[in-house]
This record gives sequence, structure tokens and C-alpha cells, in this order.
Amino acid sequence: MLGENSTVRSLISPTGGWNSELIRVSFVEEEADAILSLPLAATSTPDSMVWHFDNTGEYTVRSGYIMGCDVLDSPTTSGLNDAASWWKLLWWIDIPLKVKLFVWRACNNWIPTMVNLEGRGLRVSSRCSVCDYGCETTWHALWGCKKLKLVRESILVAQNIGSGKNLQFIDFI
Ligand SMILES: [Zn+2]
Repeated sequence: MLGENSTVRSLISPTGGWNSELIRVSFVEEEADAILSLPLAATSTPDSMVWHFDNTGEYTVRSGYIMGCDVLDSPTTSGLNDAASWWKLLWWIDIPLKVKLFVWRACNNWIPTMVNLEGRGLRVSSRCSVCDYGCETTWHALWGCKKLKLVRESILVAQNIGSGKNLQFIDFI
């Protein structure tokens, strides 16, 4: 059986093909058929997370924002103008430069989270050391970590944002 933290690699046999027996016992027939119909690469490469909505494969707040606009059926061009206005506002408001730079780095996923450090080749665990539950992405470190619940709830109440589901980092700053 597949474990809780299994990856696609778990479904590949040591010989390089799909482990069809494991796939058949782990998924319903339609899903197993769909997985087994996928061709595998000839060379073995490590699993990686890819963000489908950006050409680079990297998640950015901008691409998440644009995708969110599409999901909500909002005009995308309006979303881009809003984002551009927001960046201008960030640079003009009277807050310390180091805060602006931190926000800018966070929005571009350039802060040294465990996931980012691991992605840069450091031999570290991507797991959040605070909650030991999720991977420490920028979002997790600044908002999603369950140990930040009290902070998160007080910000949501103060800004009257709502439940916090499907929010982007840019939504609460
Ligand atoms: Zn955490």
C-alpha cells in the first residue's frame, strides 16, 4: 500500500516501469488505467513540484493571482492592472524599506524557506520544523502553518477577510 507521504516515484518499480500491481491495489480501476497509460521517462529524474499556470513551472503570487481571477471568472486584464497598482502602492507607502523588500521577496517566493533551500540543493528537509506537518513553502511559513492559527485568525478578523480558504499571500498584506 502507498504511505501518506508517497510520491509518484513510489509507483515506479526498480526496473523503471510502472509498478502495476501496486497501482492496481492503490487506485480504482479508471485511475489505475489512466496512470498506467502514462509513458515514463527513459531516464530517472527526481520528483519535483511544477506549477502548471506559469511557463517557468514555478509558483508565483502573480500567476496564482491571475489563475484565481480566471477561476472567479473575473476579467484577467483587470487583475493585471490591480496587481500593477498594488506593486506601485507598495513602493510608495511609508513603511521601512526592509519591510517592502521582505514583502516583495515573499511575493516572489524568494525567502529562504526549507522548500526553497532544498530546491537550491541544500541537504535539508523541506518539512516545517514548527508544526512538523507540511512542507515549509513561503505560503506555509507566513500563513498556512497550523501553529500560526492565532495570528492568522486575528488578521482575518481585523481585516474582515473571511475564512482564509484559497487566499494568496498578497491578499492579507
Ligand atoms: Zn508548519
